[in-house]
Amino acid sequence: MASEPTHSDGEESATIEPSDEESALQTARRELHHAAERLDIDPAIVEQLNHPASVHEVTVPIERDDGTVEVYTGYRAHHDSVKGPFKGGLRYHPEVTRDECVGLSMWMTWKCAVMDLPFGGAKGGVAVDPKSLSRAEKERLTRRFTQEIRSVIGPTKDIPAPDMGTDPQTMAWVMDAYSMQEDETIPGVVTGKPPVVGGSEGREQAPGRSVAIVTREAIEYYGRDIEETDVAVQGYGSVGANAARLLDRWGANIVAVSDVTGGIYDPDGIDTGSVPSHDEEPEAVLEQDAPLAVTNDELLELDVDVLIPAAIGNVLTEVNAGDVQADLIVEGANGPTTSTAQELLAERGVTVIPDILANAGGVTVSYFEWLQDINRQSWSLERVHEELETEMLSAWDAVRAEKENGASTWRDAAYAVALSRIAEAHDARGLWP
Ligand code: NAD
Repeated sequence: MASEPTHSDGEESATIEPSDEESALQTARRELHHAAERLDIDPAIVEQLNHPASVHEVTVPIERDDGTVEVYTGYRAHHDSVKGPFKGGLRYHPEVTRDECVGLSMWMTWKCAVMDLPFGGAKGGVAVDPKSLSRAEKERLTRRFTQEIRSVIGPTKDIPAPDMGTDPQTMAWVMDAYSMQEDETIPGVVTGKPPVVGGSEGREQAPGRSVAIVTREAIEYYGRDIEETDVAVQGYGSVGANAARLLDRWGANIVAVSDVTGGIYDPDGIDTGSVPSHDEEPEAVLEQDAPLAVTNDELLELDVDVLIPAAIGNVLTEVNAGDVQADLIVEGANGPTTSTAQELLAERGVTVIPDILANAGGVTVSYFEWLQDINRQSWSLERVHEELETEMLSAWDAVRAEKENGASTWRDAAYAVALSRIAEAHDARGLWP
């Protein structure tokens, strides 16, 4: 497995993580050009989308607990805002770079566009190991970073969210720092906040819920009965556990689940409610009763109908793509399938539903959170679930239509939907001056 475990809300950790093969920016640019080839898009618009609108690099000095001063570098990349304010995660990770932020901001543009949200793509972060900071140091870093990027964020400009190394508490500090400087409480400046300061109900479950909805639709599309469908889920965290439990409730047979320590396999089905998720009790999957234990590599090659990689990026590679037995893969994690694996799976006729559609429930409920904040409303969990279902079905229908219209893969179809919408908006707005 090539990349590190992450905790992120993936809006956010939009979407594909860099692989060993190429950087996030190289992959984003390659996928842009690949998608543009099939479509009749003005080359000038494609060239515009090949670059970020702007990238802000800031210096973030903080006082450590021992009184010394440490200086970090932070970034906020804005890719495209033709449809609305920029939107995307803020990550704290030692390997955050300018180019990584730009590449990931491009994916946020596609993810928002495939969902038809009135947002464009952004990404940012600070090059720091968050584990090396105390809570007080992390708070000081967050407040100072917010101050440094204050002029380029805001509820109508750019709305950050949690990502790797940041969490709802970090977002509460961003909101507070921003609000104190603006002399008013402005919850809509960030999403993924704790509900008590304007966070939305259902935000945490949303990416897993969207993975389950899309899996259910794909199962039906291919004429299967969900009750006769065996599913393996890699990663039993926020995305994996929520997806597995919903599919279980809808009648699917969840036969294997795993966490970073390994997995369990029961061909008769696992009671997903009795297996604690990463949040409920980290790394407890192997402690559950099950007839068989499997490694994470073995789980990917089990004889199942549906495989949901929902842990980390780059787990399906040229090494194992030939051995995957599932007919359908739904990408719960961001970028679980390398580009070589994508080609091999396509040649073998294995269907892959891409991350930018499947786990986009996260950014969609972030959009609901922003709507609630700017309208000073609070939606019930039921309403969030209903609205998410509607948005996911509408995105699924758009992507399905594109697939039926000749896109060779579901990924191509999703990119085509996203890129056409953005190009059409650029065309309508024109170039100023
Ligand atoms: P999480 O931390 O809640 O859970 C991750 C799970 O994966 C844990 O069970 C962990 O033990 C397991 N894991 C970690 N490393 C592993 C490995 N090497 N092999 C197998 N299992 C491993 O994380 P999450 O929020 O569920 O995110 C999972 C993936 O989904 C990431 O790629 C993330 O970027 C993406 N994503 C998350 C969200 C979100 O809002 N949570 C949204 C969209 C996409």
